[in-house]
Amino acid sequence: MPAADTPPSRRAAGPGIEGTTNAMDLAAAPKIELHSHLDCCLSFEAAHRIEPSITREHYDRNFVAPPRCPSLADYLAYTMNYRRLLQSERALRIAVADVFAQMAADGIVYAELRFAPLIHTESGAMSADEVVACVSEETVRQIAATGVEATLILCTLRDYSAEQSIETARLVERHAKSGPVAGMDIAGDEIAYPLKVHAPAFDFVREAGLGITVHAGEAGGPESVHEALDVTGTTRIGHGVRSVEDPELVARLAESGVHLEMCPTCNVQTSAVESYESHPVDRLRRAGVRVGISTDTRAVTDVRLRQEYERLAATFGWTSGDFAQVNRNALDAAFATPEVKARIATII
Ligand SMILES: [Zn+2]
Repeated sequence: MPAADTPPSRRAAGPGIEGTTNAMDLAAAPKIELHSHLDCCLSFEAAHRIEPSITREHYDRNFVAPPRCPSLADYLAYTMNYRRLLQSERALRIAVADVFAQMAADGIVYAELRFAPLIHTESGAMSADEVVACVSEETVRQIAATGVEATLILCTLRDYSAEQSIETARLVERHAKSGPVAGMDIAGDEIAYPLKVHAPAFDFVREAGLGITVHAGEAGGPESVHEALDVTGTTRIGHGVRSVEDPELVARLAESGVHLEMCPTCNVQTSAVESYESHPVDRLRRAGVRVGISTDTRAVTDVRLRQEYERLAATFGWTSGDFAQVNRNALDAAFATPEVKARIATII
């Protein structure tokens, strides 16, 4: 459906976000988050548990990026510290349990966590299959323990070869049969590495009936969003902030119902936008584009989804009805099973 609004007839009754009026209510209100990088959400406590030599001071200096980085490359340097830590089954299980605890405290009722399996094989301690198997198993355990429903998205990277992307696509297909894996994403440098080389991997995932989302329109311009739509047939774009520069693209997104997973605080941090006030999330939504709100990297950005909601309310005057709508948009775009979607619809 092209319009950003979900018809009233499809709105579920229940203790959802509509009717909430203040920050306390927004904190407790049920929320959906589709764009969250598992490997960039590690709290100090979890990082210290994995590597006891990490002090609070070291963590604050090396794991949390400043609110405004000169460039995406500067921001990405912080993510490398998480990558080095998450090279064992024990570390990955701690990371999964840690992010579920954070999400439960943040009022998240449904989340999609993404990670790049091949990154976690770099020390040679695990195979990619073992990485996905242990994250899947711990995710199932944490869903049961916390009540936060979730699926997993496996990422390939733009600088990977076609073979590495195909390997990731096969991991998606194999692990979707037995666990919470539901789709594939691609992240990385949008300007230096075109998507075409990865097209066969996305074809494979699409033909397997699984979900596709693509990071685009963050560092790259509107052409990177057009490219993502044309090359992968994606139904979702990670960020897509620079779509606003091209009225034809905005119309294309609105008409096709493509969902934008928007993460405003992170976009300010990576210098994708000048300021929170100039972020196009409100303009795109008013133009009929279906947007949802996520944190992207809870630890690197040092943000919770409730804080993101508070900033949107303060900056753009969003009300509880607006937050309810972005949550419905996210649920419509989610890679969850129809059964899970139906259940979550009763509580948002
Ligand atoms: Zn991202």
